[in-house]
Amino acid sequence: MASPYLVPVAALLRDVPSSLPVDFEAPFDELHEFAPRGPVETDVFPGALVRVKLRLESFSGGLRARGCVEAPWHGFCRRCSAPVLGVTNVAVNERFVDDPDVTDELTYPIDQSFVDLAPLVHDAILLELPLAPLCRADCQGLCPYCGIDRNEARCDCRAPRDPRWATLDGLQFADPESEGS
Ligand SMILES: [Zn+2]
Ligand SMILES: [Zn+2]
Repeated sequence: MASPYLVPVAALLRDVPSSLPVDFEAPFDELHEFAPRGPVETDVFPGALVRVKLRLESFSGGLRARGCVEAPWHGFCRRCSAPVLGVTNVAVNERFVDDPDVTDELTYPIDQSFVDLAPLVHDAILLELPLAPLCRADCQGLCPYCGIDRNEARCDCRAPRDPRWATLDGLQFADPESEGS
């Protein structure tokens, strides 16, 4: 089956200006075309369904792709290392150029009257993924001394107070839920 990311654009390029809506859901990277990221980085599962909703508009010598893409991602909480899931929604506004001599990083190529939206979707999503997600806004993180998950238990580790955390401590005590022991 043809990939929905491959869009024939001969008619668009012939008839300037014209436009074509593109709207589909497809696996992010089913063929593992793109290099995987590190195991602890925020990433999108290769088989995860990505929503692509763009309009291709032709101009003399190329196309502009405008719209948005949406993808579910997975990562690890930067404080407690618990798995975190989320969805990112990215606005897209990129150009495809019908000229094999143009190989800059700002445009995507048009190849044999087709555009491949996969690299564009991949680039757009990876740039927007959160680098350091949180499992929840008030995650207490792990104790740096004994490693206990402070969201689930308490420990008696004592350490010199870092004044930078003073404000956060105030917030924690303001929450009656965390006054458990
Ligand atoms: Zn957490
Ligand atoms: Zn501890």
